[in-house]
Amino acid sequence: MNAAKRILDDLLAGNQRFVSGTQHHPHCDVDYRKELGKGQNPRAVVITCSDSRTPPEIIFDQGLGDLFVIRTAGLCVDHIAIGSIEYAVEHLKVPLIVVMGHESCGAVNAAITGGAPTVHLESIIKFITPAVQKAQKEGLDKPEDVVRLNTANIVAHLKETEPILSNKVQDATVSIVGCHYNLESGVVELL
Ligand SMILES: [Zn+2]
Repeated sequence: MNAAKRILDDLLAGNQRFVSGTQHHPHCDVDYRKELGKGQNPRAVVITCSDSRTPPEIIFDQGLGDLFVIRTAGLCVDHIAIGSIEYAVEHLKVPLIVVMGHESCGAVNAAITGGAPTVHLESIIKFITPAVQKAQKEGLDKPEDVVRLNTANIVAHLKETEPILSNKVQDATVSIVGCHYNLESGVVELL
């Protein structure tokens, strides 16, 4: 089993603990915090929404130093976000990138309904719009379908982002996986 698969299984096991209320709350004690002052060695990059209901450390029952997290509304990955991901895989040698969309995403709903967004919100809507269009084309009309398509689009985009991510995916030193978080059950499902 490669490193990325092992880490993914561990995150999913942490999610099961979260779902059943049997969390370990690892890596939160004073000694561990002091130890981490010497440097970080996170195991996974997690890209998820800024939504207050989707903190990945809690959802995957992880602690300090475990996850390198990028959060924006609707999981929009711009150049700055991609630079952050590249830093994690290139300099911190993180082998796994998890892209996690979620149920009832306000950013996705805004992209579906349109309206008159502000200049900066417009950038978010623009980013999500290809998923809205794809859903329309495929006859999918649920917001959750758009969330899943948006997540899939981001996974595909990252896999093709040159040169660092595309090379690392090709030589199998980095895995990129998409998943979907269910707000009420707490379950993370792989896409
Ligand atoms: Zn959201």
